Amino acid sequence: MNAADLARQLRALLPRGRVLTSAPQLAGYASDGLGFKAWLPDAVVIPADAQELAQFMRGAVALNLPVIMRGAGTSLSGGPVAAQGGVVVHTSGLRAIRHLEANGLWCEVECGVSLQELEQVLLPHGLFYPPDPSSGPVCTLGGNVASNAGGAHCFRYGVTSNYVLGVEALMLDGSLHRFGGPAGGRGPWREDWKRFMIGSEGTLAAFTRFWLRLLPLPEKIWTFRATFADLRATEAAIHALVAHPSAPAAIELLDPRAVAMVESSQMACGLPQGSFMLLVEIDGPAALVDGRVAEVAQLLRDAGSGDVQFSDEAAIRQRLWKARKAAGGLLGQLSPSYVVQDAVIPKRALAEVLQLVYDEADAAGIATVNIFHAGDGNLHPNFLFDARQPDQLEKVERISKRLMQRVVEVGGTLSGEHGIGNDKAAYMPMVFGIVGTRLQLAVAAAFNPAHQLNPLKVFEQRRFCA
Ligand SMILES: Cc1cc2nc3c(=O)[nH]c(=O)nc-3n(C[C@H](O)[C@H](O)[C@H](O)COP(=O)(O)OP(=O)(O)OC[C@H]3O[C@@H](n4cnc5c(N)ncnc54)[C@H](O)[C@@H]3O)c2cc1C
Repeated sequence: MNAADLARQLRALLPRGRVLTSAPQLAGYASDGLGFKAWLPDAVVIPADAQELAQFMRGAVALNLPVIMRGAGTSLSGGPVAAQGGVVVHTSGLRAIRHLEANGLWCEVECGVSLQELEQVLLPHGLFYPPDPSSGPVCTLGGNVASNAGGAHCFRYGVTSNYVLGVEALMLDGSLHRFGGPAGGRGPWREDWKRFMIGSEGTLAAFTRFWLRLLPLPEKIWTFRATFADLRATEAAIHALVAHPSAPAAIELLDPRAVAMVESSQMACGLPQGSFMLLVEIDGPAALVDGRVAEVAQLLRDAGSGDVQFSDEAAIRQRLWKARKAAGGLLGQLSPSYVVQDAVIPKRALAEVLQLVYDEADAAGIATVNIFHAGDGNLHPNFLFDARQPDQLEKVERISKRLMQRVVEVGGTLSGEHGIGNDKAAYMPMVFGIVGTRLQLAVAAAFNPAHQLNPLKVFEQRRFCA
C-alpha cells in the first residue's frame, strides 16, 4: 500500500483523532529511550479516545501492517518502536482518571495517564500508587503495565503486577476483554488471564484501561545515605539491610564510577571519590519507624561506613537523594549514546557479576557506570559509547551478551523491570530453552496468531507474516 492510500485508510478509521505521516513527524516516534536504534514507522495514529482506538483495531487487520502501542516512549529495551515497520499507536488521547474510590483503595484509569498525573490526584487523599520508575514524570500506566515496571521502592512494595486489579484489553479483531476489575477476579472476569497481559509488552493486546490498587501514604519516611570504601563492605550492608526487621522500602546503590560521574558534574554532593554509595529508605507508622532509625544507622556503620547521614525532613531527604536522582540524567550528557542494561541476579553473585562488567567494559575501552536497585539484585550497568562508531556498538552488544550469559548462569534473569523489547529478544532462549520458547510463542500466537502486534519484540521469532 502506498503512503497516500495508507493515510486515507487511517483517516477513515480515525475521523476525530490524528494521523501523522510526514517524515519529521514520524522521526519523533522512531526510537525509545535507546535513542541510538531507530526505525521509521509507516504512520503514527493518535486515537481521540478508547472508542476510536477500538475502531482502529477493528480495521487494523485489513491494513496488513504491524501495530505498535506506544505510551511515552521511555522504554529502555527497544519496545514501542516499529522494528518491522507499521503503524505506531500513541495513547496520549486516553488520559482520563475515570474513578477514584478513596475508601476502597482503588482507582480506574485510562492507559495514557502518566504516573505523575495519577500521583497528583492521589496526594490530597493521602494515597499513593507504589510502583515508581524514575521516568514517572512522563511514563504512562499503559507502558508500566505492559513492561511490568518497577522502581526504587519496589524492594518492599513490589512491582506493577502487585497493583493491577484488572486490565481492559482490545484484541486485534476489535473485541474488548476485561481481565479482573476492582473486585479482583470475582464474577466472569477471568482474573488469572490478567497475568498473561501484565508484562506482555504490547504483543498480545492493546490495553485501554486499568483498575489499580492503592495504599495510604506512609506516615513517616527516613532516608539514609552511606558511603563505603569497597564492595565487600557495601555487600555486607545490603545483606544486613535485606534481613533487617525495618523492612527497608528502597536499597539503591551507586558504584564508584557513578559517584565519580556525579562528583565531577554540577550536581556534586561531596561524596568521597572511589566510594560506593547506598541510599536506603524506611517508612511506615511513625511510632514504629522512628524506633528503628538508630538501629539502621548503626547497621550501616557496623558494615564499614564512616559516613552515614539520615533525616526525616523533606528538604534534607531530597539532598540525600540528589546523587541517585542526578545520576540518570547525567548519562545522556556524558556520551552521545548509552545503553542501560537490566538484569536480575541472586544477591550472592553481586561482586562477581559487577567485576565481569568492569573487566569486559575496560578491556573493550567502553565506559561503564552502575546505578541500581541493590535490594532486589536488579543490576543496571550503563555502557557509554558513540553509536556513530560502528565498532563501539558491536563491542557494547558483545559485552551485553556476555553479561546476560553470566547472569543466567548464576541463576538470574534478563530483565527486572525494563522488559525485553527487541534489545534482548535474542537472549530469550538462554532462559527458556527450546521447549520453553516454543510454549511461550504458542501463548503469543493464541492471542495474536500472525504476530501483527509489536513484532520482533520479546522473541526474535515473532515476525509478522503479512
Ligand atoms: C530516565 C529513565 C528512567 C527509567 N527508570 C525506570 C525504573 O526505575 N523502573 C522501570 O521499570 N523502568 C524505568 N524506565 C523505563 C521505562 O520508563 C518504563 O519501562 C515505563 O514503564 C515505560 O512507560 P512508557 O509510557 O514510556 O511506555 P513506552 O516506552 O511507550 O512502551 C513500553 C512498552 O509498553 C507497550 N505499551 C505501551 N502502552 C501500551 C498499551 N496501552 N497497551 C499495550 N501495550 C502498551 C509498548 O508497546 C512497549 O512495548 C526508565 C526510563 C527512563 C528513560
